[in-house]
Amino acid sequence: MESKKEEVRRKHIRLHMEGALTARDKVGVQDFVLLDAYTSETAFLDNLRKRFSENLIYTYIGTLLVSVNPYQELGIYTVSQMELYQGVNFFELPPHVYAIADNAYRMMCSELNNHFILISGESGAGKTEAFKKILQYFAVTCPMTESLQIARDRLLLSNPVLEAFGNAKTLRNDNSSRFGKYMDIQFDFKGVPVGGHIISYLIEKSRVVYQNQGERNFHIFYQLLEGGEEELLAYLGLERDHQLYKYLSQNLFGIIASVLHLGNICFEENQQGCATIPDTHEIKWIAKLLGVHPWVLLEALTHRKIEAKTEEVICPLTPELSAYARDAMAKAVYGRTFTWLVNKINSSLVNKDFTGKTVIGLLDIYGFEVFDKNGFEQFCINYCNEKLQQLLIERTLKAEQAEYEMEGIEWEPIQYFNNKIICDLVEERHKGIISILDEECIRPGPATDLSFLERLEEKVGKHAHFQTRKLAGPKSRKRIGWMEFRLFHYAGEVTYCTKGFLEKNNDLLYRHLKEVLCRSRNRILKECFLVAELENRRRPPTVGTQFKNSLSSLLEILISKEPSYIRCIKPNERKEPNKFDDFLVRHQVKYLGLMEHLRVRRAGFAYRRKYEHFLQRYKSLCPDTWPHWHGRPAEGVERLIKYIGYKPEEYKLGRTKIFIRFPRTLFATEDAFEF
Ligand code: ATP
Ligand code: MG
Repeated sequence: MESKKEEVRRKHIRLHMEGALTARDKVGVQDFVLLDAYTSETAFLDNLRKRFSENLIYTYIGTLLVSVNPYQELGIYTVSQMELYQGVNFFELPPHVYAIADNAYRMMCSELNNHFILISGESGAGKTEAFKKILQYFAVTCPMTESLQIARDRLLLSNPVLEAFGNAKTLRNDNSSRFGKYMDIQFDFKGVPVGGHIISYLIEKSRVVYQNQGERNFHIFYQLLEGGEEELLAYLGLERDHQLYKYLSQNLFGIIASVLHLGNICFEENQQGCATIPDTHEIKWIAKLLGVHPWVLLEALTHRKIEAKTEEVICPLTPELSAYARDAMAKAVYGRTFTWLVNKINSSLVNKDFTGKTVIGLLDIYGFEVFDKNGFEQFCINYCNEKLQQLLIERTLKAEQAEYEMEGIEWEPIQYFNNKIICDLVEERHKGIISILDEECIRPGPATDLSFLERLEEKVGKHAHFQTRKLAGPKSRKRIGWMEFRLFHYAGEVTYCTKGFLEKNNDLLYRHLKEVLCRSRNRILKECFLVAELENRRRPPTVGTQFKNSLSSLLEILISKEPSYIRCIKPNERKEPNKFDDFLVRHQVKYLGLMEHLRVRRAGFAYRRKYEHFLQRYKSLCPDTWPHWHGRPAEGVERLIKYIGYKPEEYKLGRTKIFIRFPRTLFATEDAFEF
């Protein structure tokens, strides 16, 4: 069995050598580092296109994996493929997501350290599919004990549940994740997966009450209506025809059903201009499903409590404000239920019996977004990408330079843009955009999206990475609207419209409605809306600040771990196989920072190994080092590479490691085993 596997592996190395060195015109190179014209974006694109047309969707930049969504089943995710990649150095086989997974896993097992795999790319590029492939890879290839099968199955099952509640059909992707996800997979010292933990980020709650033309609400609503038994639907007061539910056309199930009913509540205006609800049918259903009193709910949807000096005054709402309150309630109920669900999944994944676990974290998170109109959501998402770029700089670019320095290796320092200045512009306390937005949200008096813009101009107007129409020169002035500001992100400029920033950042649920929900008899809602919240009179943190805090914890989680990167690319907007849209791909290559990454990789050394490890693996290739080398490992390595003929420009010897400039040098060494 082992020798058969070894044989296949060797065959792949040979194929690779052919691919890399001789037949490159046909299939391109499998590592961009090998490109001759490595600084040319056109050469980069040519290589990607060539490989894509041969159904080779994966290509490396050193240890980073670039993946192009094939939009078709390629038969490359079979169990035998998984077995092939198991325990093999990842440059020895064609690039694959399994190779990245296996590499992280083996490093974790041998060095007992923690890892993460960051998967990024734009909507529809294949992030979630890559995430699932990695999870499956671990589920199939990791050692397993009978008692731990449950843990493994739960890890696998968490995905469809989260997708049902957190994914939706959008114009860009039929199964678009509307939240960011970080999952730790915990392993014991034998490398058996024993548990996990999930953190979710910024679920797009607004989708519950509004979807763009051609998009849908979260999958769960349709699954409930299409898959629910008649009896269950009757119990929930639902009709199967989902056109009936307004939130859909523009369990937990009780809560999901109540959200649908909420969407159908209509308000009318009475003679005093106040909101009334003529048809209380839906109210009764919601009250029943959520365990609240119907009249209390009705009052909370049409009135607002205002605290005067010593007493509470109840003021009627206009129909518009009532509709706003209704939507806020639907969003709050859904958003908190989603968080509750993630917590439930976590308590089923937790494994307290194991101490000293090591983890591999998988991060499936929205990539840079640039649309025709960019709002608060894009602002948060792009800020998140700035932070992740910071991580890349810290962990890869800076770390790379530090390692060369430590090892005493000479190299050409490479210029890269450190985007900390943009992160500060967004997040700095008291001075950054989020702080200014928060201040505007609590400022007494009429704060508006426009006054927010003016405040920005006042406070960060001089910043080199910020611009508005008023501040811009005559040329760019035309391209920025009156309500817009522009940020010069590390990946390019994005213009944001401030419309909705205040409201989305505030995410206000009227106190009156909060009281109703906190007093609900529904078991789940009780856990989502704690009575203690009512006693706490302080304003909850805004959405922007919460997001900023959660990103800073995420960075703390990641910074201590060894990174691997997967960059996903969407080849066309039509979700079709065999279509490679140059313009679209070029845009992503830019926003994913791939050229910059390649430059850094090329300037440095593709691979490095501790002398001991290098010698151990290749000692059989040289009579002086075989079967044993008794001297210092560094000298052994020197003897060995001289014998097999490394050229001086191909390598450098550091204090503890050998540095190899090009992967092909190592491939050739691997291949020498053959003879
Ligand atoms: P979003 O940000 O919207 O969540 P995403 O990057 O997670 O997008 P996916 O849901 O992973 O995108 O992929 C979109 C679709 O593309 C999948 O539903 C699947 O049909 C197809 N796809 C992605 N990756 C692959 C693959 N490796 N092989 C075959 N099809 C794929
Ligand atoms: Mg996704």
